[in-house]
Amino acid sequence: MNAAAVSSLGAKAALVRKIGGPFTIESVQVAAPREHEVRVCLVGVGMCHTDLVMRDGFPIPMPVVLGHEGAGVVESIGAGVTSVAVGDHVVLSFNSCAACPNCAETQPAYCYNFMAHNFAGVRPADGTTAVSQDGALIHANFFGQSSFSTYAISHERNTVKVDKDLPLEILGPLGCGIQTGAGAVINSLGLKKGESLAIFGGGAVGLSALLGARAVDAGTVIVVEPNASRGALALSLGATHVINPKETADVLAKIKELSGGGVRHAIDTTGIPAVVAIAVETMLPNGMLGLIAVPPPDAMLPANMLSMLIRGAGVKYITEGDADPQTFIPQMLAYYKAGKFPFDRLIKKFPFDQINEAAHASETGEAIKPVMVF
Ligand SMILES: [Zn+2]
Ligand SMILES: [Zn+2]
Repeated sequence: MNAAAVSSLGAKAALVRKIGGPFTIESVQVAAPREHEVRVCLVGVGMCHTDLVMRDGFPIPMPVVLGHEGAGVVESIGAGVTSVAVGDHVVLSFNSCAACPNCAETQPAYCYNFMAHNFAGVRPADGTTAVSQDGALIHANFFGQSSFSTYAISHERNTVKVDKDLPLEILGPLGCGIQTGAGAVINSLGLKKGESLAIFGGGAVGLSALLGARAVDAGTVIVVEPNASRGALALSLGATHVINPKETADVLAKIKELSGGGVRHAIDTTGIPAVVAIAVETMLPNGMLGLIAVPPPDAMLPANMLSMLIRGAGVKYITEGDADPQTFIPQMLAYYKAGKFPFDRLIKKFPFDQINEAAHASETGEAIKPVMVF
């Protein structure tokens, strides 16, 4: 298709008009893709915790179209797009600037301009968006996609082509939540075959970390999770042990007992300082604690410096699993095809028009990873 022949399209999008929501499905217009942009017909989109954080008041201009785990089919492409073509199946991920030193070193998760390209609600270059309603601007470009919509504009950089024999409607969460957990283990911690890991929190990101650990044939993997059904799911996905902190008085001692003295590395997905205080003490010498969750705004790291010194312990905040989506999403899909990465077991499907029910199911823990299908 000739990009110049493409015009704007009518779409149905879930808007957030005020802090706290709800999502309201409304008719909007999605403009033609500009240079290096891609217009995607969405097939499925995941609900990530960050969508709910934005809905509930993290600063973003409203009304806004959220959604940042989209998967769909390329409907049209803007000038200069070469990596995808009309009809390709694609997964959308976070966006980055392409110009800063970290983007140049294929570390787009640490793009110097990450906030502007993912959270500004507009195109950072000129303050416009591709979405409008009766001529009025609707904020979009959330994570460079705003995919709570039947059509969305993404960018060549955050649009990843995938094979057509994969179940497209459930692939979107690979672009954020699943990549975040699995990438933290595989990329950031570099967990190796036979090595041990403790995971604090068995939600979508923690269980994705577990999937990553199993994909690289980790040894002992201990999941600390108070919700019994999530603990049971963790065991069925390959955790060697689950600790329920409501039933275990000394979680640190239990981890040391189960692992024979401590774990190689640890992951915190809770953001709770009292949990991090335990997590940082679980690692063997030269271990690393990866921190993934959004902490309370005033939280300080609760770590004993002498204990860390003695062990040479590291602590690292990890964004998007240190992933370059163009290579890591295909890597996760290769594990999936090999039967080593059953991420589909985390997913519960909802029709797109039940997006508020999906959000509620995520908040109550009834659904680990909701995916809205179109
Ligand atoms: Zn950058
Ligand atoms: Zn996310």
